[in-house]
Amino acid sequence: MAQKDYYQILGVGENATSKEIKKAFIKLAKKYHPDSNPGDDRAADKFKEINEANEILSDAKKRKQYDDLRHFAHAGYGGAGSQGFDINDILSQFGRRGGGGGAGQGYSAEDLGGLGGIGDLFSNIFDRGGRFRQQRYGPQKGQDHHAEVEVPFDVAAKGGSTVITLMKEGPCEKCGGTGAEPGSKVEKCPQCGGAGMISVSQGGFAVSRPCPRCYGRGEIVSEPCHKCGGSGQTAGRKRISVKIPGGTPDGGKIRLKGQGQPGASGGPPGDLIIKVAVAAHKFFTRKGANVYCDVNINLAQAVLGSNLRVRTLDDKRAVLKIPPGTQPGTTFRLKGLGIDTGSKVGDQLVTVGVDIPKKLTTEDKELFERLAASLKLKH
Ligand SMILES: [Zn+2]
Ligand SMILES: [Zn+2]
Repeated sequence: MAQKDYYQILGVGENATSKEIKKAFIKLAKKYHPDSNPGDDRAADKFKEINEANEILSDAKKRKQYDDLRHFAHAGYGGAGSQGFDINDILSQFGRRGGGGGAGQGYSAEDLGGLGGIGDLFSNIFDRGGRFRQQRYGPQKGQDHHAEVEVPFDVAAKGGSTVITLMKEGPCEKCGGTGAEPGSKVEKCPQCGGAGMISVSQGGFAVSRPCPRCYGRGEIVSEPCHKCGGSGQTAGRKRISVKIPGGTPDGGKIRLKGQGQPGASGGPPGDLIIKVAVAAHKFFTRKGANVYCDVNINLAQAVLGSNLRVRTLDDKRAVLKIPPGTQPGTTFRLKGLGIDTGSKVGDQLVTVGVDIPKKLTTEDKELFERLAASLKLKH
C-alpha cells in the first residue's frame, strides 16, 4: 500500500517550523512547476504531490489533524492495515478524490480546492472515533432540532406567541436514562470487553466506533428497560410556547437556545430552530414592513370624494380621505399604520376599486339618465 509522508515529500523534519515548510515548498514548487517542465508527467505529478503536502502542513489545524492521524495509524490501533495509510485511499473511500490524473496538464487549482476537504475529512474520521472519547471524557453539545410552525397573520405582524408540540427525545422516565429495567444487574459488555468502542477497518486503517451492543457505555444490563428497550432515551410529546416577535416574515427563523436534543456527558443541549410560515389574511397582504389592502367605493364616492373608514392592522378604523375624481385602482398611503419590525415602521397601502351598479331602482335609473343628458350637453 502506498504511503504518503508529507514531511518526506517536502524534505522537512516532523518538527519543521511553518517557515521551514514554506521555504521548502517554494523551492520544490519552482523546481517542479509545469511551466518549467512542459510535457513532463512525472514533474506534474510531483508538483501536485508537493502542493498536496503544503496544503496540509501549512495549515496549523490540518497539520495537527494529519499528525494525529499519523500517530493514530502508527500506534497500530487494531487491524492489519493500520501501520501505514494512504491519503488517496482515504479520499477515494469517501469519494472525495480530485480529478487529477490527466497526464501533466490535468492538474488545476480545482484539484487543490478539492483537497481543501481533507481537513473536513479528518475531522469526520475523528468525530467518529472522537465521539467515543467525548462521551467518556468531555461534554458534547446536543443536536439542533428543526420545526416549522404556521402563525396567524396578525401574530406575525404584531408579535405574540404560539404553542408548538414536538416529538422530543429525552431520558426515559422509567429507567432514568440508564437503560436498565429497575432491579436488573449491570454487566461488562461482551462485545467490546467493556471498552465502549470497537475497531473497524476503514480506508486502510482502523477507525474506532462506539460499540453498537452497549451504545458506547461499556456495560450492558441483564434486563433492558421495557419502556425504552435499553437505549435510555424515549421520544415524547412536548409542548413549547414560542414567542413570535412582531414583524416576523414568512420563512423567518426563531432560535430557542437549549430546546434541542440533550447533550452528552453533561454537555449543553442543542437549540430548537423554528421556521415560521405566516398564514394568509382575508383582508391584508404584506411585503416587508408594509401592509396592503383593497377597498371598494361607489360611483358617487369616487366622483364627489368621501371620507372612508378603513380597517387597520390593530383592528381599528382609520379615516382615508378620498378626493373627488378618484380613479379606480388608485393607491393611497396611510403612513405609519404598517408593521413595526423594530427597525422600521411600515405603511398601510389602500388600493381603491369602484363599484359599478349592476341593478338600478327606477329612481336611480332616472337620475343616471338625467346625468347622461347633462354630461352630453357639457361635451
Ligand atoms: Zn460494548
Ligand atoms: Zn428506559
